[in-house]
Order: sequence, then C-alpha cells, then structure tokens
Amino acid sequence: MNKLGLVFDNRYLHHFIPTPTPESPDRVRNLYQHLHLLLQQQKDTRSISHIQPREATHDEIMMTHSAFYVEQLREHAVKEDHYSYDRDTYLMDDSLPTARLAAGGCLNLADRIMAGEIDYGFALVRPPGHHATPGRGMGFCIFNNIALTAEYLRRQYGLSRILILDFDVHHGNGTQEIFYDTNEVLFFSIHEKGIFPFSGTPEELGDGEGLGYTVNIPVHPQFGDPEYTYLLGRMLQGLVEQYLPQFILVSAGYDAHIDDSISKTLLSTQWYGLITHILRQHASESCENRLLYIMEGGYNAVSLEASVVTSIDALLQKEFLRPGIFPVPRAEKLLHDHPIHQYWAI
Ligand SMILES: [Zn+2]
Repeated sequence: MNKLGLVFDNRYLHHFIPTPTPESPDRVRNLYQHLHLLLQQQKDTRSISHIQPREATHDEIMMTHSAFYVEQLREHAVKEDHYSYDRDTYLMDDSLPTARLAAGGCLNLADRIMAGEIDYGFALVRPPGHHATPGRGMGFCIFNNIALTAEYLRRQYGLSRILILDFDVHHGNGTQEIFYDTNEVLFFSIHEKGIFPFSGTPEELGDGEGLGYTVNIPVHPQFGDPEYTYLLGRMLQGLVEQYLPQFILVSAGYDAHIDDSISKTLLSTQWYGLITHILRQHASESCENRLLYIMEGGYNAVSLEASVVTSIDALLQKEFLRPGIFPVPRAEKLLHDHPIHQYWAI
C-alpha cells in the first residue's frame, strides 16, 4: 500500500452564510464523515494518515497575493452584506482564518511529501482557490491554494519544474495568471468551453520565459470519459516526458461530473479513478511519486463524495492500471488543431 496523507478538518466548515450558495459546508459534511470511517476501518494503519492543517502565515499568503488585496478582504469580511466584495465570493467573520487554514493544509502536505513521510497527499479543503488572482478573489475562491503550494515548493525546496494539472470544469484563471511568465510551473488546464470565468483559450500559451508553459484545452460541453481520457492521456504523456516535473500538483475539481448541475460535462465517478492511475504512473516515473491533490469545485455533495473516494481508492492501490488511450474523433481534431505543437511534441 502507498502512504497517503489526507487533510480535512471541521474548521473548514466555518466559512458559511445562512443563504443558499453552491459553495457551502454541505458539500463536504458527509465526505468528512466518510473519511473518518475510512481511517477507523483501515487495516494497515500505514496506508492513510490524517494530517493536521495550519493557518498559512501572512508572509506565505504574500507569496502569490498583494497586501492591498488582503487588506480589502479584511475590510469586507466584517461587513453585514456578505456579497459586498464579489457577487459569488461571500465573506464573513471566519472566512479569512478558514482560507488561511485551507492554504496551510496544502503546505503541510507538501512538506510531508518532500520529507518522504508520505507519497501522495489530498487536501480536502475549502474554500477552493484556483480562480483567485494576485489581487482579486472570485468564483468562490479567496486564496489560491494550489498556486501558493507551487510557489512554496519553489522557494522552500528550490524546485524549478512543477506541473499543475487542473481538471476542474472551470478554467483556473488565477493559477494561470500567477505563473503566466515563468517556465518553473507548467500550468495545464482542461475545462468546459464558454462558461465561467470565460478564459482559457488554446491561444493563451504563456508569456516571455513562460511561453509554452501554459496549456489550455477548452472542451465541448458534451465531452465525457472517452474524450477526457484521450486528451489527458496523450497530452500528459508528452508533457511529462519532456518537462520532467519534480512535483505534480492537481487542481482536483469534481464539477465536470455528469451529476453536477453547474456544468454540462459528462464525466463518470470511475473516470476520477482512471485519471488518478494515469497521474500515479507519471509521478512514479518522473518525480519519486510526489503527487498532491488539492480539492477545488464539486457542487453535488453525492457525486463529489463518490468521486473523491474513488480517487483515494486509486491512490491506495498497490498496482496502477495503465488504461488504454483510444482516439476519439472530436477530441483528436481538438488536439490536432491545438497550437501547443509549436512547443511540445505531443
Ligand atoms: Zn469549478
């Protein structure tokens, strides 16, 4: 069995408002209970460890966000109107400590992986982060958890080739913006075309030294397992073989699931296990298994729980499956026409 570190904590439920919103503590309540049971029932106690989070410090938050932005958040968090800052991203008393705890939970897992104490990590944190830019929160995101983790790995451990895969159904615009002009982080996002935040075209490829190190695949809303498996299977193989990442981070959003009404994409629960096997294989071949999942979206609590548990199960398998990568006409054309071929042999 592989050693897996999980971060989840009831303090992640503290960011909430009484009015209905897709990004609420109800997303993860049952999931956390399920994980507690999983921990109690495991026969081999070395398989999963429950890692405690900590609040990221102000200096750590400053690695990817501006002081002006943090000050703005503080001012809005105490206002009575929870949507005074942004129409999706609510702020209340406990929002900032919870967001710091989300970021710090990811950093703790990164430390454990770098110390060789665990192979894989999964940060089941909220609020999510991939839409947060250096100076703006949006799309339910306050601090960019995955970008902070990548930047922490660069500064703390001197890593210079970090691969971020973002399979949340929405484009990770914040993460892209933060690393747009560097080649030390390769940002690779697959997302549904034409939905929030309306960015992430194939032509967004990075800038300066970062040119070719941003890769976006906006997909047709009706794409599902075969198209996703073909596109990610082919592209990850090419990117990993040529970039040789020292660490693989995953913006693991589960809102492309067929049962998640926030999108039209058709992924099944089983697909999240399959992509996890593919990622494990790449992490094993390129970076001593260093693989860290950070939860982003997923707004149907039932499909989110099932898909996360399927991912965890795939992380715990002794062997990894090598799923067949079969061409699918619509996805083949998308890949054929993609400008990424100027930078990478795919
Ligand atoms: Zn999303």
